[in-house]
Amino acid sequence: MTCIKKELIDGDTALVGVIGCPIKHSLSPVIHNAALTELNLNWCYLAIPCTKDDFNLVIQGLRAIDCKGLNITIPHKNIAINACHKLTTIAKNAGAVNTLIPDKLNSWIGSNTDIEGFLVPLQPKKEWQKKTALVIGSGGSAKAVLHGLSTLEFSKIYIVGRNQVSLDNLLNEINKNQFLSTELQLLLNHDVLLSKYIKESDLIINATPVGMYPDTKEMPLGKKVWENLENNTTLYDLIYTPRPTEWLKLGKIYGCQTIDGLEMLIQQGAASLRLWSGIEKIPTKLMKQAAIKALNAQYN
Ligand code: NAP
Repeated sequence: MTCIKKELIDGDTALVGVIGCPIKHSLSPVIHNAALTELNLNWCYLAIPCTKDDFNLVIQGLRAIDCKGLNITIPHKNIAINACHKLTTIAKNAGAVNTLIPDKLNSWIGSNTDIEGFLVPLQPKKEWQKKTALVIGSGGSAKAVLHGLSTLEFSKIYIVGRNQVSLDNLLNEINKNQFLSTELQLLLNHDVLLSKYIKESDLIINATPVGMYPDTKEMPLGKKVWENLENNTTLYDLIYTPRPTEWLKLGKIYGCQTIDGLEMLIQQGAASLRLWSGIEKIPTKLMKQAAIKALNAQYN
């Protein structure tokens, strides 16, 4: 168990934290407390376990004790929408909230920093104009990924899912919110032309948990389909346990550019901290160092 040094907590210490279930293995306390110490902010960031049934009660209670800000993670990102009194445009469009900012009158403003976090490693934006992207997965993070991609002017996006129902749900949401004007093609993961689409893609994103600890030998879509990988393709895996995943290791063998999920994690956290504190310059390098140290201790 990690203990916070006692002398850092006093009567003025305020609370910030992340709410989820399960939450024990979250890296957010590690990265945020590293930043808070560096910024000399007398706040303490905790992982707060909370079931769906208790969600409203818990966030109302935390607002009542002047909690300075919350992150929201699995499985509450969607239900948090209804618990907020106001939503930022980005949270409204994304249909998901990962950040709560205290508002007046005991209320919370809901925002979403996942999209901003996802986009940071894809700068400069103009690199992706008129290119083709392929997204694997059709769940919550695939939605955030598609919102991010909608700002990068791709000419075509493939979305590969394992079941038709969740692909249909995703398509309905895209049509309802009209946030993506790019040409789209939805495919099932056993589509016979998958290798061809992979070959023609400039950016491929894994937005599934396939390959994540403890099933680290797994590869999204299976190993065979990656035999046609081109060296000018960029592979972006949202997973950061392990770093790199087997899929990214394979990508390196083919000469591809690879991006793992750690930068997204750090950048979404930094964006939340910016919203809560009003401080523009967040020590992201230090947050990353703290995360790597914790990951090495947990998984090696
Ligand atoms: P999610 O909402 O549960 O969606 C997961 C998606 O992956 C669904 O489309 C699901 O298909 C599909 N899937 C699950 N297991 C699969 C399998 N064995 N084979 C093929 N497809 C499978 O989860 P999420 O929130 O999108 O998270 C996905 C991954 O992204 C996780 O590993 C998470 O840790 C990571 N993530 C990272 C960050 C970061 O900051 N780096 C942020 C968010 C998420 P069905 O629709 O059929 O269930």
